Amino acid sequence: DRRPLIAGNWKMNCLRDDGLALASGLASKLSGASERPECDILLCPPATLLADVVGVLGHCDIHAGGQDCHFDKSGAHTGDIAASMLADIGASHVILGHSERRADHGESSTIIRQKTIAAHNAGLTAVVCVGETEQERDLGAAIAVVCGQMDVSLPEDATAENTVIAYEPVWAIGTGRTAAVADVEEMHAAIRRKLKERFADGDAFRILYGGSVKPSNAAELLAVENVDGALVGGASLKVEDFWGIVSAC
Ligand code: 13P
Repeated sequence: DRRPLIAGNWKMNCLRDDGLALASGLASKLSGASERPECDILLCPPATLLADVVGVLGHCDIHAGGQDCHFDKSGAHTGDIAASMLADIGASHVILGHSERRADHGESSTIIRQKTIAAHNAGLTAVVCVGETEQERDLGAAIAVVCGQMDVSLPEDATAENTVIAYEPVWAIGTGRTAAVADVEEMHAAIRRKLKERFADGDAFRILYGGSVKPSNAAELLAVENVDGALVGGASLKVEDFWGIVSAC
């Protein structure tokens, strides 16, 4: 059975004091919880805070990850971060192909596949994001777009161990609009079919939903078949909100 993963994508938020307070607040919630949450937990702070967040989390059972990496091992790439550098400071995961990176930095699915391979080579689990725009959904192309992104973004070496899929409809990100449960179910089923067609362990991959997940809608979304967790933006910036989502598992 697939264990859910609740991942917080802090995006470009949090200076040091706030970020460390958030991480330590969540570590306290976990250590104070009467029962172990029924999910894995991942925090993806900005790169500047990653090493310190790893330090604050210590040996508590919360993972830390990056929000991007370069596809090259090392070299002349000013401003970029190699997957091995993330692993070196204690990250276990990296988010790749987020729609904000696809939009702001022109990242294509081809680049994302290369980054995913780099992440795997560094021993990181890649959280590969896919999702359609509102226009694509209105045109009835949502499933085709997402399946196309998966075809190219996922390398042959992807396994359920080293890769997590995150479905994030672009129009649901930061808007307060979540996808309808029936649409989430349909899309996650399509993603599952794709994974099973291509990978021997396709049934074991975790498929996260992302886009305006909050404590009040988390239980409903997490109950949908083939939804194996959430990738949370805004609501991952407050201890109570993020813990509320963890507790919905
Ligand atoms: P919000 O939860 O703020 O909608 O962001 C979702 C997201 O993009 C997570 O990667």
